Amino acid sequence: MAENGEEEMGSVEASGFSDLSDSELLEYLDLEDTQESSASLSKPGPSSELPGKDDKLTSLPKWKRGLDVSSPMERFHLKHLYVTDLSTQDWCEQQMVYGKELPGFLAPEKAAVLDTGASIHLARELEVHDLVTVPTTTKEDAWAVKFLNILSMIPVLQSEGRIREFPVFGEVEGVLLVGVIDELHYTPKGELELAELKTRRRPMLPLEAQKKKDCFQISLYKYIFDAMVQGKVTSASLIHHTKLCPDKPLGPSVLRHARQGGFSVKSLGDLMELVFLSLTLSDLPVIDILKIEYIHQETATVLGTEIVAFEEKEVRGKVQHYMAYWMGHREPQGVDVEEAWKCRTCNYADICEWRRGGGVPSSILEPLAKKVK
Ligand code: SF4
Repeated sequence: MAENGEEEMGSVEASGFSDLSDSELLEYLDLEDTQESSASLSKPGPSSELPGKDDKLTSLPKWKRGLDVSSPMERFHLKHLYVTDLSTQDWCEQQMVYGKELPGFLAPEKAAVLDTGASIHLARELEVHDLVTVPTTTKEDAWAVKFLNILSMIPVLQSEGRIREFPVFGEVEGVLLVGVIDELHYTPKGELELAELKTRRRPMLPLEAQKKKDCFQISLYKYIFDAMVQGKVTSASLIHHTKLCPDKPLGPSVLRHARQGGFSVKSLGDLMELVFLSLTLSDLPVIDILKIEYIHQETATVLGTEIVAFEEKEVRGKVQHYMAYWMGHREPQGVDVEEAWKCRTCNYADICEWRRGGGVPSSILEPLAKKVK
């Protein structure tokens, strides 16, 4: 799962070329969201029950109030973030932070949903190309496979074909953001359409909060993709953030794979040059339409589609707010009172400082506490 490993060493799916989507990570949230309707019945009373968000700072441990001066990017040893980090943050920032701090906390049933979501994505991907696993031993190799995937897909897009699992990356508000677009194709009118596949455990469409998070995710993909094809993403920025060594020779498997794809390269630097040239010279359009397709996991039935309006100002505003946390400019925040129902199905409810600090009345969490025990 390329998007969720800090360094993607080991082996990478390629040729055809592929790079597993990040979107399966979000599928685990389906479990929470499927219980949204019943949980929302326990929506707490007036917001006067809650202290303001600023009040939370007084209940934070000392290290969070200033003794630890490192930013979350430094504390978690991150060179970049995934698009899914930000969309998970959009669901509940505090929950996303716990996910980073306590990665083993994922419940087994959520892991199963992840697996099934990944299988459906894989089946879709195999419809358009074969997969080849390329063994990699360095982060340079892993990025090289990503670049080979991009190089193989650009001509397909140019000839108005359909591609799946397109890697995207770019600096946003000072942080490198990385993701994988599920699918890009052209509509009969010739517009470039991004299609994101979301699998659902139950045969029903998600409610608004889940849709909001999904919309933000695919808006981010457009934001980055458009910047890539407009030449706004540079190799210097990529190297600065990832600390990649462009001169390091690539591994034999990657070199062989590159040769098979018709690319005569020796180092990552050669490949990067090719990628950035291809992206800017191939005259690819920006994304016109953003579409989410919700599919029932068990039957593969399409439950519905959502066309998302891209609101650039709103997306940028959200990104600025979320990046402020990552850069260490503010503390993480939990959900607002209106969304306190999310806590009822949250794995971290028992340990949540936001909730303990008064963010959410503990009474509405009782059912979950019992269930967890
Ligand atoms: S308990 Fe609520 S506020 Fe805390 S992490 Fe979970 S969803 Fe967020």
